[in-house]
Amino acid sequence: MPVSVPPGPRSRAVRALSLASSVLFLTAACSASTGTPSGADPTAAPPLPGPEDGADPSDGGASGGSDGEPADDGPLDSRVVVIDPGHNGGNASASDEISAMVPAGPNEKACDTVGTETTSGYAEHEFNWELSVLVEERLEAEGATVVLTREDNEGVGPCIDERAGIGNEAGADAAVSIHADGGPESGRGFHVITPGDVDGFTDDIVEPSRLLAEDLHHAYLEGSGVPTADYLADEGLDVRTDLGGLNMSDVPKVFLETGNMRNPEDAALMKDPAWRKRAADAIALGLSTYLTRQ
Ligand SMILES: [Zn+2]
Repeated sequence: MPVSVPPGPRSRAVRALSLASSVLFLTAACSASTGTPSGADPTAAPPLPGPEDGADPSDGGASGGSDGEPADDGPLDSRVVVIDPGHNGGNASASDEISAMVPAGPNEKACDTVGTETTSGYAEHEFNWELSVLVEERLEAEGATVVLTREDNEGVGPCIDERAGIGNEAGADAAVSIHADGGPESGRGFHVITPGDVDGFTDDIVEPSRLLAEDLHHAYLEGSGVPTADYLADEGLDVRTDLGGLNMSDVPKVFLETGNMRNPEDAALMKDPAWRKRAADAIALGLSTYLTRQ
């Protein structure tokens, strides 16, 4: 479905779409993103209920940037960051659109997936959105120009290749897809996914993406209180060649799986608005660390 840009206060969304409009309208039949790892972040979650804790995403506690404009003369002045909140709130009711095949590197993958949810029904797409907005506020307070890949949590898509295309179009200095995993109930923790070597696709981003992953991993481990995943990855770092969201990127990009929504301990944190602010602080610090060392 065509992506409309509603009038309103979210100038960020307008900016994002104007930057990405050419990309979005190429494949307007799709929706959210995924890059959803097989075996992680299941693709077939049931229809999702509304959020159970409605924190106001605008109440981020950042020192500025809530007007959607970057602060002047901050440490990240002139830097461009793309934040990609995984999935979207309308995906569950648009199965034809999100199951359409799109370029994902050497192969094609589904446009997007529904994402996971906690056992009590807090949806991943809602969590991803709420956390991404908080990260945006913090980065803008430091002077960065931030582009989100979707303007709210009510729509469908964009597809995984479009999400990568938004980062490319923006000429992002760094891009991060924010997700939460749907792993085994007994497993907890976060992991960061970096692109592996995919000939002709990721050659130019493997190394800077690895550096980005390391800075994000360090900051998130220190700041979020969530341990590294104990049920997959290698001490919180994973390298993958099957994610369209990474393979189609021409800018340094990683996926952050912030925790396991199916695990009671991780889920309790994710549902806590105060923890989400803490997590956003950590993610913004990791990005800032990477950007200021370039
Ligand atoms: Zn996800």
